[in-house]
Amino acid sequence: MRTLLAILFVYTFSTSYLHSQQPQKPTASEIFQNIQKLNFLGSALYIAAHPDDENTRLISFLSNDVKARTAYLSLTRGDGGQNLIGPEIRELLGVIRTQELLAARRTDGGLQYFTRANDFGYSKHPDETLAIWNKNEVLADVVRAIRKFKPDVIVNRFDHRNPGSTHGHHTSSAMLSFEAFDLVNDPTQYPEIAKEYGTWQPKRLFFNTSWWFYGSRENFDKADKTNLVEVETGNFYPSLGLSNGEIASLSRSMHKSQGFGSTGSRGSETEYLEFLKGDFPKDRTNLFDGIDTSWSRLEGGAAIGAILEKVEKNFNFKDPSESVPQLVQAYQLLQKLPESHWKTIKTEELKAVIADCSGLFLEAVANQASVAPKGAVVVTVEAVNRSSANIALNAVTSPIIAFPATFVPTPLKKNERYTLESSEYSFSATSYSSPYWLKEKGTLGMYRVEDPTLIGLPEQVNQFPVKFLLTINGVEIPMVRNIVYKYNDPVDGEVYQPFEVLPEVTSSLPEKVLIFASQEEREVPVIVRAGRDNVSGTAILQHPEGWTVTPKQQFFEITNKGQEQTLLFTVTPPKQQSEGTLRPLLQVGDTFHDSELITIDYDHIPVQSVLVPSEAKVVRIDIQKKGAHIGYINGAGDTVPESLKQIGYQVTTIPPSEIYRENLKQFDAIVVGIRAYNTVPEMAFKQQELNAYVENGGTLIVQYNTSRGLVTDALAPLPLSLSRDRVTDEESEVRILAPKHEVMNTPNTITTKDFDNWVQERGLYFPNEWSEEFTPILGMNDEGEPQTKGALLVASYGKGYYIYTGLSFFRELPAGVPGAYRLFANLLSIGK
Ligand SMILES: [Zn+2]
Repeated sequence: MRTLLAILFVYTFSTSYLHSQQPQKPTASEIFQNIQKLNFLGSALYIAAHPDDENTRLISFLSNDVKARTAYLSLTRGDGGQNLIGPEIRELLGVIRTQELLAARRTDGGLQYFTRANDFGYSKHPDETLAIWNKNEVLADVVRAIRKFKPDVIVNRFDHRNPGSTHGHHTSSAMLSFEAFDLVNDPTQYPEIAKEYGTWQPKRLFFNTSWWFYGSRENFDKADKTNLVEVETGNFYPSLGLSNGEIASLSRSMHKSQGFGSTGSRGSETEYLEFLKGDFPKDRTNLFDGIDTSWSRLEGGAAIGAILEKVEKNFNFKDPSESVPQLVQAYQLLQKLPESHWKTIKTEELKAVIADCSGLFLEAVANQASVAPKGAVVVTVEAVNRSSANIALNAVTSPIIAFPATFVPTPLKKNERYTLESSEYSFSATSYSSPYWLKEKGTLGMYRVEDPTLIGLPEQVNQFPVKFLLTINGVEIPMVRNIVYKYNDPVDGEVYQPFEVLPEVTSSLPEKVLIFASQEEREVPVIVRAGRDNVSGTAILQHPEGWTVTPKQQFFEITNKGQEQTLLFTVTPPKQQSEGTLRPLLQVGDTFHDSELITIDYDHIPVQSVLVPSEAKVVRIDIQKKGAHIGYINGAGDTVPESLKQIGYQVTTIPPSEIYRENLKQFDAIVVGIRAYNTVPEMAFKQQELNAYVENGGTLIVQYNTSRGLVTDALAPLPLSLSRDRVTDEESEVRILAPKHEVMNTPNTITTKDFDNWVQERGLYFPNEWSEEFTPILGMNDEGEPQTKGALLVASYGKGYYIYTGLSFFRELPAGVPGAYRLFANLLSIGK
């Protein structure tokens, strides 16, 4: 699945949208567009809860049509979502979705920010959301984002007035934005943040409404629109060759882990914004009405504006470098102004435009993708001026890399390549490259971030800066590039990767949850991976009380960086039911290492290295089972087969082409993976084979599917229809409705205790209608809601059994929840 999707991405998406490390190489028309943006001093902040909530059409419109500085503040990183492209869930999915948002913003021209709120899963009401999040901290982060970004206009994706009608995170995002609007200009509110970034009053706040919020297009057509601002967002941008709707779709299609591929649209399209607070715009088609967005906004900026207006007017598409002298003049004037918000922003924008107009290529490339502290690295610098602009390189410096001490200033003559190699440099202690918000252990609702300057940032940038001191047209202009790594791939050609600092040694336990169904001892491999050449030391495996591990200590010695060595420890569980954690601890010299390195590698985002605690959960469960050979039909991707192997089942994957009754006969039970009826088109034609298998005495267990977007409505041999019923509180009471039923008694006796310590949720998309042959086994509900009975439905059909379950076994089994194993074993054992 993973490989197939990876191949698809390579062929379907233009490489210009890949890899942020790749230097931007704008065309003359794109440079012109950036000059137009240089001449707009206004900003807009879009606020919602998750990656993929944002309206890319409006963000692209604000960025590319209005040319405003535009950002999306997503309160969370989307950890609680589902992953359609690979096995990563929770925090690792949050890392992917953070990068998908950055890829989306590179496409639509916006910027990206976050808060420390963790997407802990589905929440039905903002009261619950704001109790699990630390409301005060999230509000502080929204205030921080506004004071730092200083938007003129704020747009909420969701309505703050209808709690309970959508995801609690959604309504909370709007409520917090609404509240923050009145706090941000008051220096007594969050005074620490005011001290750091000053106060700020946005001009107006909107809610990005649409007909959808009115129930129907008809209702919306009839509604009073005097309080709405209407903007035309369907324009075509000749300089980009794309319509706004086409850019919006390219951007939205970056949410690949959510399967949000989107097809571009052309032609007129109106967006509606309901005015909530601030000054109502007199011109109801202009969000920035009454706001000075010219250079005059900056004290002393008018003269700069006059120069840059001419640059825009006289821009030569055949030779953008003709603008360099005027741009440099504007840069020089700007540097004379007192420090200010817009000065900082426009200085960076101007530097980028100057470099682009002169075709100036600057790069610092490391000779390896990662280095351990004290490890040696060589960095090669390249500088090329590909125009007639008058440029000289006066120095190359870096706080972390040593370049030759005596640097001879060098004129960068037209199209003459200049390179410089650093001496082999030994990195001193520096923090490891890993997502900053995952470095400390947070709570269910919040990430913990020690350094307040990092709060809100999508990721840490420019950790390894190299400064190029240039003289352009006689004016000193420093430009900074972050060290990157690149290599040549025989298929893809030039591939860029982030350059990183990683530990000299990491460890991992290949299985994250080890289930011991008996007291039998087991060999547990610990994989030690070298982050540098010639690393050796000792390893121990820390274990919970009552368990034993031998040997106590082992030596490892690895010659080459990247190479692995496997150490085998023998683990013996206690007699009685018990849970705990195994943690490898490696010692090299005086340094201890307890991290695992996880590499996330997809084509639409940069390679991500994530350091997580190296550990595995061990569970001794009292479990009985019947049947031996299970067939598994993969859906959207889950790790249930690995869990079943742990308790001693033989599991065989059944590809769609092999779903036919003669082949299915060999299995004691067949399990259908999550969302198979949403993602595997062949399921529409294979159901009769599965039904025949049941009729002839087989057991078929179907796990959850979403009620919308099914490839067939007939996913059972008997009438059954799915709904959106779900129970999100993992601690909600479970009532056993059919206590005498076989699945509650054989071979394991299931009691309500088996529903203790479940994680994230009980289940989702439960059926709400079924034929009388089905027996509903369990009743459950979230607080204040009617009881659902569709979580686990069992029907005998022919000589066999059909079971539909929306219970979240795909979360509970990988998390090592004993009761979930005992119940699943009963489902597999039915009729045997
Ligand atoms: Zn959402």
